[in-house]
Amino acid sequence: MLRTICAHGVWPKFRLHEAGYQTDGKCKCGEVDTLTHRLYHCPITHEFRLQYNRGPEVMQARADQPHLCCWTNGLVPWPFDGLPPPLDLSPCYWNSSMESHFSGIGFGDGSGLFGLSTKTLRCGWSVVSSRFNSSGQIEHTAELYGAFGGMHQEVNRAEIYASLMYLTHAVPYEGKYTYYSDSSYLVDGWWLKPKSLVCSGWALHSDLWRKIYKVAEELGLESVEVFKVAAHRSIRTAVDMYDSLKILSNGRADELAKKGAGLHPCNQLLYDSITQLKYLAVVNAKCITRCMLKHIELLEQETLERVPIESKAKPDVGSFAADTHFFVACPMVLTDVFIVSLLRPWAGLHPSVVEAYQSLGTRSGLWLMFIFVLVVAHIAAVG
Ligand SMILES: [Zn+2]
Repeated sequence: MLRTICAHGVWPKFRLHEAGYQTDGKCKCGEVDTLTHRLYHCPITHEFRLQYNRGPEVMQARADQPHLCCWTNGLVPWPFDGLPPPLDLSPCYWNSSMESHFSGIGFGDGSGLFGLSTKTLRCGWSVVSSRFNSSGQIEHTAELYGAFGGMHQEVNRAEIYASLMYLTHAVPYEGKYTYYSDSSYLVDGWWLKPKSLVCSGWALHSDLWRKIYKVAEELGLESVEVFKVAAHRSIRTAVDMYDSLKILSNGRADELAKKGAGLHPCNQLLYDSITQLKYLAVVNAKCITRCMLKHIELLEQETLERVPIESKAKPDVGSFAADTHFFVACPMVLTDVFIVSLLRPWAGLHPSVVEAYQSLGTRSGLWLMFIFVLVVAHIAAVG
């Protein structure tokens, strides 16, 4: 259904009529049956428009930006062009009232802001060093936080980077380099996966893992310990002093990692409009789908009473159950989808929609890719 709508593969009766099929082109309600009619004017689908809150605001947006294919295809324009890129380097800041190395137990965290999509995500990291002072009280001895730099923003990367920063600036605490993280990815990567695996060129984030192993080996691998700490626990749940130390330090690290993520430039206005567009796309896609289903239901009931197609010369794309054909069987739709997904960078389609196409149409996509390669090879050979 989604594929058909996105690929403009819906055939309301007026479209069939225009293409020469034997139908009066009228909707069940008596009006001319176009896509716009079905989605915006037809009394039969009125309840869905109400349900998905397509009130005056949406109608106004539609009047202001009638060119958006969002209105009938559920697609929105590529919205990320004006977004400032993430910082290149990873700037970092020590808390100047504390030490500028980690002499206690290290607690690190990675965090992401603007997590609407991988394009908007901006990450930060932090390390807090904590220990018990001579009178047995918990104290933070050092705090370091920063923005995670580079185009590849991902919270897991920020988590690994935090541990790298700890090891780079740590001195042993009771003979060990002890580091706590609330990231299972990091802790599992450390204990459960061999170095050869995480550092192999095929592995995700191997660039960072290689740096970690380089520093850890210099310090002595046997003296480095990485542990898991539960995230965001309340201090009231602490079972002992050591547990309190973990809870407080993890909480502080979380706070600072968010602060670090906030160091990236981000255009809040643009981000808001992206959020709005995404919302609109989702709401619209749902509403469009419901409206279409309703009309298919009506068409199915009519199919048997109708006269067969008038002319054999027409392409085999329609009958009076044309929509049903398009939704379930027509190979042309898959072709459309594949072409649309190929053209995505030029057409400016929303990636989530394209992902949805691709996950639905992979097999036909592969065949078409194969044919495409053959054609290109043929042209290359002949030319
Ligand atoms: Zn109607």
